[in-house]
Amino acid sequence: MTENKYDVIIIGGGPAGLSAGLYTSRARLKTLFIEKAAIGGMIINAGLVENYPGFADGVSGIDLTQAMFKQATKFGMEMLSADVTGLRIDGKNKVVATSQGDFSAGAVIIAGGSERQKLDVPGEVEYTGKGVSYCATCDGAFFRDKIVAVIGGGNAAVTEALELTRFASRIYVIHRRAELRATKIVQEKAFAEKKIEFIWDTVVTAVVGDAFVKKIKVRNLKTNKESELAVDGVFVNVGSQPATGYLQGVLTLDAVGAIVVNDRMETGVPGVFAAGDIRSGSIRQTVGAAGDGAVAAVNAGKYLGE
Ligand SMILES: Cc1cc2nc3c(=O)[nH]c(=O)nc-3n(C[C@H](O)[C@H](O)[C@H](O)COP(=O)(O)OP(=O)(O)OC[C@H]3O[C@@H](n4cnc5c(N)ncnc54)[C@H](O)[C@@H]3O)c2cc1C
Repeated sequence: MTENKYDVIIIGGGPAGLSAGLYTSRARLKTLFIEKAAIGGMIINAGLVENYPGFADGVSGIDLTQAMFKQATKFGMEMLSADVTGLRIDGKNKVVATSQGDFSAGAVIIAGGSERQKLDVPGEVEYTGKGVSYCATCDGAFFRDKIVAVIGGGNAAVTEALELTRFASRIYVIHRRAELRATKIVQEKAFAEKKIEFIWDTVVTAVVGDAFVKKIKVRNLKTNKESELAVDGVFVNVGSQPATGYLQGVLTLDAVGAIVVNDRMETGVPGVFAAGDIRSGSIRQTVGAAGDGAVAAVNAGKYLGE
């Protein structure tokens, strides 16, 4: 075995990857876990997770995934901070190309989750990091006593708006429809929150500022009326897509780009598994991702034993 050779490589450090890593490392499989950003994945954006079993009073997404990471590394899982850019199948050997070089393994579990969709309006790219953000947990504290807009109407958007009430003085939730897609319990909390104001049937058409964001231009889809809104920050949460760009042509993807798997989390390539939000048919919840990770890990172990 060369230094870069593992039994299992796990791509992605969210709940699916962390759960898979716990199972493979506890099964004494030499495991490398690769994450390009913060450990924990998308759920670190949730202030309080109320629907992960075992926590009657809820648990913060950060605390939950830090505990998962501690548990997996306790059994010997190795961690690499790198961006995975490619996957090559060389018979039984799988080569994972990363920003830190190539690593190979007998089995690979892909748990890269999803990436936030962009608004795709003028000013968005220019002001990213200067008022435009895709992560309330990471950037919310920069907006203490400021006015911010959250764009989107799903669970993730409304949860982020609630998270931002800890910092911002006023939060506009701007949604293209007349009602939210978030679950009832999340909606009830948001409607009861005095700092949150909803702006319905409206889209953002531009982000404007000088050194930092100063305002957004918006358009009401019913009246077509254009107007401006003074804000210090813009949190974009208009959906997400599977993080499978580097897997095109390697694995079978569905119409939205998610990895097609069977109920053992096997992709069409023997020894390559997918788990969590990145796989086709996922319920896109933390408990589902953790379950998928365990299924993929157990079946990766069986594959290696064959
Ligand atoms: C604001 C918000 C609130 C939420 N609230 C809840 C909730 O209350 N309850 C609930 O059950 N779920 C909730 N969710 C959904 C939950 O976060 C996801 O279902 C869950 O995180 C999916 O886990 P995952 O491991 O599949 O993917 P992710 O959590 O997305 O993790 C994937 C990881 O892979 C990494 N990665 C991706 N590509 C690469 C690459 N090429 N190289 C290296 N690393 C890579 C990413 O950086 C990321 O850390 C919420 C989501 C958001 C955004």
